[in-house]
Amino acid sequence: MTTKHTPLVILGSGPAGYTAAIYAARSLIVPVLISGMQPGGQLTQTGDIENFPGFPEKISGIELMDQMRQQAENLGTIIVDETAVAVDLSKKPFSVTLDSEDVYTCDALIIATGASAKWLGLANEDNLRGFGVSACATCDGFFYRNKKVAVIGGGNTAVEEALYLANLASEVFLIHRRDELRSEKVMQERLKAHPKIKTIWNTVVEDYIGEKSNGGLTGLRLKNIKTNEASELAVDGCFVAIGYAPNTELFRGQLELNAEGFIVTDKTNLHTSVEGVFAAGDVQEMFYRQAITAAAGGCRAALEAEKYLSALK
Ligand code: NAP
Repeated sequence: MTTKHTPLVILGSGPAGYTAAIYAARSLIVPVLISGMQPGGQLTQTGDIENFPGFPEKISGIELMDQMRQQAENLGTIIVDETAVAVDLSKKPFSVTLDSEDVYTCDALIIATGASAKWLGLANEDNLRGFGVSACATCDGFFYRNKKVAVIGGGNTAVEEALYLANLASEVFLIHRRDELRSEKVMQERLKAHPKIKTIWNTVVEDYIGEKSNGGLTGLRLKNIKTNEASELAVDGCFVAIGYAPNTELFRGQLELNAEGFIVTDKTNLHTSVEGVFAAGDVQEMFYRQAITAAAGGCRAALEAEKYLSALK
């Protein structure tokens, strides 16, 4: 176990974390970035990205994040591929304990820990996760070649997952609780036009059918919420795509969080309730949850951290 001091620690390696690192490094701060459990963050689990400016031919999420990491490193960021397991924001310098038990103390902290997929919360969900139930089509879709799958949700993630899975599976059912999707119109058009995808409207999943010890998921028990009609749908896989919850457990009781658990920040300068602690990206953003807005937040947080650190001198 070692303890090191550094002016700035950045937690998280999505677009917010890497962009914060790029800006901080260019201010000659030499930031330490703790990449977390999933280096590259949520974008490493998406397919092609069409809406990040500068890549007219699209770019894969993994490649985009690799390039951001490379850029941050080239400019002098120290990247530590570990996970923060505890933080102490009650006194200065702040301290961050890693899973190796090494500790970084720092004068300023940028939190860019992002968000994680939400689950339906059904009784046997935990049991069947990895046995037919998943929240990541790009990770697990391969196992469902020529099989039937369902995707739950009506946002961009659900539609993207359905389109991705349609390249592999024999049939894809998109199950949505309303009669209107909230995803981008262009994605809705692609969904409608796809011959392998069927959308089941006004419907919720009441239960997963299947046993982990006996081949895993075999189907879903559904209910139409307009007619109350119950039905069963035979599927081999179910992908839950109902949004994301912020990764803020480490900060509970130390920073102001809103009712949904997002870090409360000043929307202009991304200051949190503790002076010297800044937050950027999905961990504090409830509405514009995009790679580009996260990157922009990382930039703002780094500029603010730099200003804060200069004032301390
Ligand atoms: P989202 O936009 O919050 O959509 C979640 C969907 O899940 C909604 O359709 C919601 O239904 C449904 N839902 C929520 N809880 C549910 C439950 N308990 N049971 C059944 N359905 C439930 O989440 P997202 O699609 O993950 O997207 C998150 C953010 O990332 C958005 O800002 C999105 O634009 C962005 N994103 C962007 C891209 C892209 O630009 N290509 C790709 C992926 C994600 P209701 O509609 O009825 O609320």
